[in-house]
Amino acid sequence: MSYIIPPPKQPSIAVAGRSERFAVRRIFCVGRNYAAHAREMGKDPDREPPFFFTKPADAVVDAPCAIPYPPETQNLHYEIELVVAIGRSGFRVPAADTGELVFGYAVGLDMTRRDLQQSAKEMGRPWDWGKAFDHSAPCGPLHLKADTGPITAGRIWLDVDGARRQTGDIGDLIWPIAELLSLLSHSMHLRPGDLVMTGTPAGVGPVVPGERITGGVAGLGDIEVTISVPE
Ligand code: MN
Repeated sequence: MSYIIPPPKQPSIAVAGRSERFAVRRIFCVGRNYAAHAREMGKDPDREPPFFFTKPADAVVDAPCAIPYPPETQNLHYEIELVVAIGRSGFRVPAADTGELVFGYAVGLDMTRRDLQQSAKEMGRPWDWGKAFDHSAPCGPLHLKADTGPITAGRIWLDVDGARRQTGDIGDLIWPIAELLSLLSHSMHLRPGDLVMTGTPAGVGPVVPGERITGGVAGLGDIEVTISVPE
């Protein structure tokens, strides 16, 4: 095989304790998956089925890192999330069988240009410009499910410059991981390398250049991301 221009670098994330990396294929994200966050976004968490959006695979960056304040926004928000990494293909998988698809877990940030997302919502336009920009998915190292066991509960938190901003528990997901993966697998074939960002708890808010985000999920360690000046 030869290419007329050099092929792009394979996006990937680190694997805890290993030299091999996890090659990323696609990034699926779920909207409003904690009741308190759905309410803070002005929605009724009890009546809405889950919905998904995506980020490009090359939005991932290894945390710890510094990411530039992105262009075209005045309101960059953090969203701390549990990230599920898919290790096996699956199509139309019942929720009870989705454990076989899960390769591991990581802590990630669904960075959001909230002003662009909000105006897209108001105009009935796609969310992509609010969500799918460069460096918008900082991610900590992947922890193998073989080591962690299945994660169904545990504290999730985020601080900005040491002040607590988000807290929740994975056990409070409106749509648990098994159901999310089953739903996704009914829309398309899940494949090894896919990442699923499972939603953020309440407390989202803005960050500006110079601020330092720290956050974590019980059993997966902490991540640290600093916002640097615009590129
Ligand atoms: Mn999110």
